[in-house]
Amino acid sequence: MNRATPNKFKAVASFAVVSMCVACTSFTDLGSTMSLAPKVILIIGDGMDDQQITIGRNYLVGHNGRLIVDDLPYRGSIQVQTLAEDDPSVPVYVGDSASGATAIATGVATSEGRIGTTANSDLDVANLMELADAAGFGTGIVTTSSVTDASPASFMAHIEYRYCDTPDAMERENTRMPQDSTSCGQDRVANGGLGSVVEQVATSKMDIVLGGGSDKFTVTVDGEPGTTVLEQAKSNGYTVIQHLADLDRLPAENRVLGLFSPGHLPVRSRGVNGAKAEYIDRVGDKVVWPEPFACEANPEFIGMPTLAAMTKAAIGRLNSDAGFMLMVEAASIDKEAHYWRPCGSIGEMEQLNEAVQVALDYAKSHPETLIIVTSDHGQSAHIIPEVSNLALQEFASRGRFARLLTPEGGIMGINYATNDSPLWEDHSGVQVPLYASGPGVEDLPRFLKQSDIFHIAATHLGLGVGQQHSDSRK
Ligand SMILES: [Zn+2]
Repeated sequence: MNRATPNKFKAVASFAVVSMCVACTSFTDLGSTMSLAPKVILIIGDGMDDQQITIGRNYLVGHNGRLIVDDLPYRGSIQVQTLAEDDPSVPVYVGDSASGATAIATGVATSEGRIGTTANSDLDVANLMELADAAGFGTGIVTTSSVTDASPASFMAHIEYRYCDTPDAMERENTRMPQDSTSCGQDRVANGGLGSVVEQVATSKMDIVLGGGSDKFTVTVDGEPGTTVLEQAKSNGYTVIQHLADLDRLPAENRVLGLFSPGHLPVRSRGVNGAKAEYIDRVGDKVVWPEPFACEANPEFIGMPTLAAMTKAAIGRLNSDAGFMLMVEAASIDKEAHYWRPCGSIGEMEQLNEAVQVALDYAKSHPETLIIVTSDHGQSAHIIPEVSNLALQEFASRGRFARLLTPEGGIMGINYATNDSPLWEDHSGVQVPLYASGPGVEDLPRFLKQSDIFHIAATHLGLGVGQQHSDSRK
């Protein structure tokens, strides 16, 4: 772990009190706890807008129940920020994980697909992990996706396009999705860039990174035939773990890279026998409503670490006098909604709630911990009547539709209708929630932008945020 010298940390902390603590006025009232280094646990539900939260609540704890996040002391709303690549002065009203997570991680809005770089001008922007590490804090990332996916990448990498995640991918031509064809040429190591996302993860200064994506690390390092990215990570000081039991015996000194699945981690829940939303049948003009189905445990999840277990392990690894910046992501609220699988999203909402509980449990004995829960963008699933009032007139959604049988005996109608493609559902541009717990949260404004989250976290840690732009190719 990268620890600050006591003097260095003192300087950072006092700067926090005097100059930086705009959003956390109670800092000055904390008295003796101010001698403890601040911690931030930032929890991102990918695609977690109010529709996905309500679907999760209705299924997991019932219509009258409360999720863990429902009882956090602060609740606000966040404007998602995305810019046009060609003209960054023009907003784009629907973003993706790359643009959303980059705004949160760096405080700088960007265009879709970009990781830690500015729209059009392609400058690298310092992220919370880099700034925290430079100030002597521990740093960690936990995700249920591949650790190279857009959200975690936005906290570890700087690259033109999210899908340039391996050296090979930097050369692909994608005919199905032409916008995915990019060389990211200026980012190649051979051209003086930082390399693909996976190479940047392998060479990052993170103390602990836990998630999936081991397949990405089997590729060869650009320009170094015979060296895999996994070997590159090991020579950078990472101890690589791949099994659930390893979480209980993390090495005391080395950086930790946990890769528990070849790709994204399998989700906890699925529809019974794999059921998901489907197009509604019609016989003649008559609507044939689909049979309701319930959720069940996904057998593929057996042997996988829960998000809560990974969060607990990361906090245990980072807990020290130095303080830390930890990002935790429930990635598949989004991914499962893309593929019309409400039960997958619900299981991931459950995982997020359990991770929030782990953070709250830690904060009980470490009140200097700021917990932030938010999302990168909205998703497609909407709760609509399980049988439309228009059914008698033979009208029904033309989108995919699920009638979900809830444990409390209700039927929840969930509709996906952003497009009629067989590939996947689009995101939505709705505002997303911000929940928070910890010093000063009661003073936060109730409506903020994604980039404000960066400043809230940076302020809590007392990070000096000056010029963040740089050009890694110079
Ligand atoms: Zn998505």
